[in-house]
Amino acid sequence: MKSSVDLPPTVQVNFTLGIGHGRLDASLEVPSGHVTLTQILPVLQTLTSNIVDAATVLVSTEGYQVSCRAGCGACCRQLVPLSIFEAEFLTEWIHSLPAMQQQALNARFNTTVDALKATNLLPRLLTPHLWQEEDLEARTLAADYLEQEIPCPFLHDESCSIHPIRPLICREYLVTSDPVFCARPTRETVVPIPIPLKSSSVLFGLGSLVEEGTTGWIPLPLLFVWMQTGGTPGQAIEGLGHELLHEFVKRYTS
Ligand code: SF4
Ligand code: SF4
Repeated sequence: MKSSVDLPPTVQVNFTLGIGHGRLDASLEVPSGHVTLTQILPVLQTLTSNIVDAATVLVSTEGYQVSCRAGCGACCRQLVPLSIFEAEFLTEWIHSLPAMQQQALNARFNTTVDALKATNLLPRLLTPHLWQEEDLEARTLAADYLEQEIPCPFLHDESCSIHPIRPLICREYLVTSDPVFCARPTRETVVPIPIPLKSSSVLFGLGSLVEEGTTGWIPLPLLFVWMQTGGTPGQAIEGLGHELLHEFVKRYTS
């Protein structure tokens, strides 16, 4: 799957990150010119996948195996927070698709929104102050959402149809427990692999700086609603590619 974002010439950036009691030697091709945060998302996707791979190796050395496989999509019925930068990225990608594909996606998202309207979830999802992650109301909302078993509009035949460009938070969610528990996850039954450096959280934090007073993310099913705003949040964070990456990586530990 090709991203719609055309990257300028690149420069190689090498650095090392501590991953639990292991380490990741990262080597990334980063745009050498002036870009927005949204334009370096492909780099951040690669970095996130590298971090998750390193975390997966760590749990395997402890005797655990990741249970996640293509065609296993119960987790794709959870409420997925999509950073506003990824919302912008996916908007550009959707606009790059042939008209018929855009219409088909629009129809899938409309079906999802209709399903949400049929519950009491839509007004709650449209009330951003209810999304504060540690808040009881937010946890109740996430549980109520899962209860409805509404599949992500990008889920096709129980597999992610945008796998190469899927949100960072989807990359970061892997479990070592039996998939049978994923439809009704509890702390006792579902064991996610620990991800020591969460790229999704860094993006949410940057989003909340750009859009003050918000969580920096939207519920993924409301992507087409968000698209109507014409938002370009990435433009608020611009710079040379390697500088943006450096600032991003610094935030893993801040
Ligand atoms: S989190 Fe659960 S449902 Fe999702 S892919 Fe992994 S095992 Fe399957
Ligand atoms: S974007 Fe893909 S991986 Fe993420 S919830 Fe949707 S279908 Fe699943």
